[in-house]
Amino acid sequence: MDLTQRQKADLLARGFSRRAFGRFASLLAAGGALPFYNEPALAQLSNVGPIPAGAVKINANENPLGPCPEAADAIQSFVKKGGRYSYDETAKFVAAIAAQENLKPSYVLPYAGSSDPLHRVVMAYTSPTRSFVAADPGYEAGFAAAAFVGAKTCKVPLTATYAHDVRAMAAVDPNAGVLYVCNPNNPTGTLTPRAELEWLLENKPKGSVVLLDEAYIHFTDAPMCSDLVAADKDLILLRTFSKLYGMAGLRAGAAFGRPDLLARIKGYAAGALPVTGMVGATASLGVKDLVAERRKNLQAVREDVFAFLRENNIGFVPGETNCFMLDAKRPAAEFIRAMQAENVYVGRVWPVWPTYSRISVGTSEEMARFKAAVEKVMS
Ligand code: PLP
Repeated sequence: MDLTQRQKADLLARGFSRRAFGRFASLLAAGGALPFYNEPALAQLSNVGPIPAGAVKINANENPLGPCPEAADAIQSFVKKGGRYSYDETAKFVAAIAAQENLKPSYVLPYAGSSDPLHRVVMAYTSPTRSFVAADPGYEAGFAAAAFVGAKTCKVPLTATYAHDVRAMAAVDPNAGVLYVCNPNNPTGTLTPRAELEWLLENKPKGSVVLLDEAYIHFTDAPMCSDLVAADKDLILLRTFSKLYGMAGLRAGAAFGRPDLLARIKGYAAGALPVTGMVGATASLGVKDLVAERRKNLQAVREDVFAFLRENNIGFVPGETNCFMLDAKRPAAEFIRAMQAENVYVGRVWPVWPTYSRISVGTSEEMARFKAAVEKVMS
C-alpha cells in the first residue's frame, strides 16, 4: 500500500526520514503481521508449550466468567445476520458508551478491543524525536509500538506505594510524545491517585499526550477519568470489554479523546468492526448492576487469597484489581514451572522484579486449586 502525499508530509514533519516510508506503508497493509503483542500473546510467549485442558489458567488476566448472559444472548441472536456489515450496531455502541460516560459521541472511537488504539496512539504521537514514557513494571505493549517507529523509550520505576511516579515521568524527557499510565497498573494491580493524574496532565512536557489505560478500572473502587476527556485535556483514554465484561475473545473497546487528538489515529482505522463484539458490548452496558456485582465477587475472591498468603507468610503486592504480584523468593521462572507441574498456569515475570510472578484472580474454585498448589510449591 502506498502512502499518500499528505501521510508522507506528516511523517517528515514528525521527524521521520524518507527511509521510514516503507515501514509505514507495510504497517498500513500488513495488519496481523505487525511485531506487536497484546496480553494473551505476551502470556503465551512466556509459557512452555500449550496449556492442557483442565489446567487452572490464571496467566493472562482473562475473565473466566465470560460475557454476561445478556451479551451472550444478544450475540447469539445476531449471528445469523453476520453476513451484513451492520454499521448501525457500531453506531449504537458508540451512542451507548458515550451516554454512559457523559461524552459527546465525537469523543469516542470504537475498536475491536483496546490493544489496537493503544498501538496506534503510540505510533501517532511518538517518533524519532518524541519518546515513549511508561512505568516499570508496567504493561509492555506500548514499548513494541514505540520501538517500531524508532522512538526512544523511557522506563520510570513505580513509587514506594506502587503508584506511577508522575513527577519522574514528567521530568524524564522534555521531548516526550506519549506518557502512558495504566491505572490500575498491569502487572501490580495498584492504583495511581487521581490527583496525581491531574497533576501530570497539567505538568507534562509541551506537545505530549497522556495515554491513560483503564483496562482494569471496573474491578476497583477508583473513579474513571472520562470526565477529564470531556474537559478537553491532552488525554486519550482506553476502554476495553476484555476484562470485567469478559469479552477478550469477542473484542470490543474504545478510545476516548478530543476529536483533534483522535483525528491522528482515525485515519488508520480499517472500517467495519466485528458485529458480535459491538452487540455484546452494547448489551453489557445495558445491564444495570453488572459492574458492581462482578467487582464485588472478584474482590471477595481476591481478599480470600490475600488472607491465605498472609497466613502463610508469602510476600505479595496487594493489588486492587484482578491481578497481583506474588514474591516467590527465588527466580520466578522456577516458581512458574513448579506451579505448571501442579497444573496451575500463573503469569509471567517482569525483568525488573525477577522473583515475582503475576497472578490473575480466577473463580473461587480456581483459586482454591491455586492455594493448594502454592502450599506445595512454596513449602
Ligand atoms: N491494556 C492493558 C493494561 C492490558 O492488560 C490489556 C490486555 O490484557 C490490554 C490493554 C488490551 O486488551 P484488549 O486488546 O483485549 O482490549
